[in-house]
Amino acid sequence: MELKNTEHSQILKFKELLADKQQKIVIVSHRNPDGDAIGSSFALYNYFIKAGHLVDVIIPNNYPQFLNWVPNVKNTLVYEWHAEKCNHLLKSCDILIAVDFNDLSRIREFESQIEPDNCYKVLLDHHPDPGSFADLVISDTSVSSASELVYLFLKEIDSVNLMDKEIAECIYCGIMTDTGCFSFNSSKRQTFEIVGELLDFGINKDYIFSQVYNNYSADRMKLMGHCLHEKMTYIPEMNTAFIALSQEDIKNYNFKVGDSEGFVNIPLSIRGVKMSGLFTEKSDIVKISLRSKGNFAVNEIVNKYFAGGGHKNAAGGESKLSLDDTIAKFISILDEYKDQLSDDDSQ
Ligand code: 5GP
Ligand code: MN
Repeated sequence: MELKNTEHSQILKFKELLADKQQKIVIVSHRNPDGDAIGSSFALYNYFIKAGHLVDVIIPNNYPQFLNWVPNVKNTLVYEWHAEKCNHLLKSCDILIAVDFNDLSRIREFESQIEPDNCYKVLLDHHPDPGSFADLVISDTSVSSASELVYLFLKEIDSVNLMDKEIAECIYCGIMTDTGCFSFNSSKRQTFEIVGELLDFGINKDYIFSQVYNNYSADRMKLMGHCLHEKMTYIPEMNTAFIALSQEDIKNYNFKVGDSEGFVNIPLSIRGVKMSGLFTEKSDIVKISLRSKGNFAVNEIVNKYFAGGGHKNAAGGESKLSLDDTIAKFISILDEYKDQLSDDDSQ
């Protein structure tokens, strides 16, 4: 169990910086934070607070309610609400840690506030193509989640045994959510060894599951029913199914951040389906989420057509077209992938 692809000299440099107490550390993660973004950020937050530093977590927009239980998550600074304070922290910090995203465009709200040389920068991520803005880059696409990488990183720098149950809960949250409760991205022994170590810290994995997955509002449940019954399109000859969520749906079901979390995965459980999608109409853009099974690479589609990126089996992007036109575009490009999609192989 070790950190891969990491320059050892930069780890040493980072540890030297931490030798001074009260370093001003700012942790940033991506828009629409999920369990891994919040879990990895707050594992780092709780660790560095315990180590005596001054730590803040800045996220572009708010986290979903099902993450309310994450230790200290209430200290999150939501950029949308506290831009001035966040700008000040970003400009005056000693160390900036970017976690669970590879590309500064995913924090475009405050990308311009991050200056090239004002502080020591760390990137901790598991997406392909890590950006080059950081001094210390810890990037490994083979791990389950950014949280798994944070665990390896903390073990590497933790010379005084500060790991504890709360930090372990944050890490478990990220691993559990980014692997769909161990149903994908989790076929390596290391992930389970780490989970074993987290259990040794006394985490209650059933409690964490329940907090995340049995904590929905009735509105969200009704929205899910509506999406599946009225808003799902299934194209059997392309083994593709997708859901389109309009502004009207969002209004009618009293939508809260995180309410559509997981919707994109549901059509994947239709027999034979290789690709599923969720198109969400926002005020200015249509947000696109794609998922796939097996070898079909959805990150190639969003990269080429929807200004996005991500992993082979989970990727996202956006479109400036209307919802209907975005869907028409998506359907029209399926033909290009017909051979891979219609083929009965590799699931
Ligand atoms: P989700 O569909 O859950 O929003 O995102 C799935 C994955 O796709 C994320 O882990 C992230 O890597 C990637 N992703 C989502 N939206 C975007 C986007 O707008 N730009 C880029 N580059 N990647 C995205
Ligand atoms: Mn992640």
